[in-house]
Amino acid sequence: RGNVSLLLQYGSRNVLVDCGKTFRETALRWFRKHDVDAIDAVILTHGHADAVGGIDDLRDVQRPFSAATPVYLNIETKRVCQSAYPYLFPRRKASDVPRRIAQLDWRVISDNEDFQVHGIPTKAFPVYHGGTYISLGFSFGKDKPFVYISDVSSFPEETLRTISSLSPISTLVIDALNRGGHNSHLSLPEAIEFVKVIRPGKAYFVGMTCSLGLHQEVNEELKSISRESGIEMELACDGLSVRIEMTG
Ligand SMILES: [Zn+2]
Repeated sequence: RGNVSLLLQYGSRNVLVDCGKTFRETALRWFRKHDVDAIDAVILTHGHADAVGGIDDLRDVQRPFSAATPVYLNIETKRVCQSAYPYLFPRRKASDVPRRIAQLDWRVISDNEDFQVHGIPTKAFPVYHGGTYISLGFSFGKDKPFVYISDVSSFPEETLRTISSLSPISTLVIDALNRGGHNSHLSLPEAIEFVKVIRPGKAYFVGMTCSLGLHQEVNEELKSISRESGIEMELACDGLSVRIEMTG
């Protein structure tokens, strides 16, 4: 699979959440199939390579002659990007830079920020992604929001309260690495327990390793867990397209 990523298509806008090492091949493989002609905003969860390693390639998916693409990220992720890609932080005006580089408008958000991305009400919240290292989760939309938590090993108490307050959640996307547990990701059993507590309308698991088992077989397993719990659960996959109702 490619690095975990989300593309929100909302009206005529395309908002990308995370732009990892495999962004280029993912864009080549899926963007045309899903009518994605350009990226209008980027949201970054954290500064690991599988979340930010493709930002240089954003130059190929920017609308010509448009303003710099907003990139929402916390200060730690900005530091990582700035040290890895200093040329994407030009001191001169973008129009003065002779090289063809991605024109990015870096917008630092707090770990608990409420903000709008091209009209989509968006809320950030911090989750632990190994020890006390912070990755951001996000909710999109006001009523019955769509919630995305791609990299998480545990939750700060305050974040659990925030997520509970979002209820009812229409769709939850949640990290589920393996079966046995891991320092920086939830295992599938842990993710299932979390889903049962949060009770979204539907849950998708992301970030799986091959050790979890074959995709279809695990999804069969999840069907019986879905029946027992009354919550639909499924493994996501590359290129998966889901329709969600989002209120602004
Ligand atoms: Zn990570």
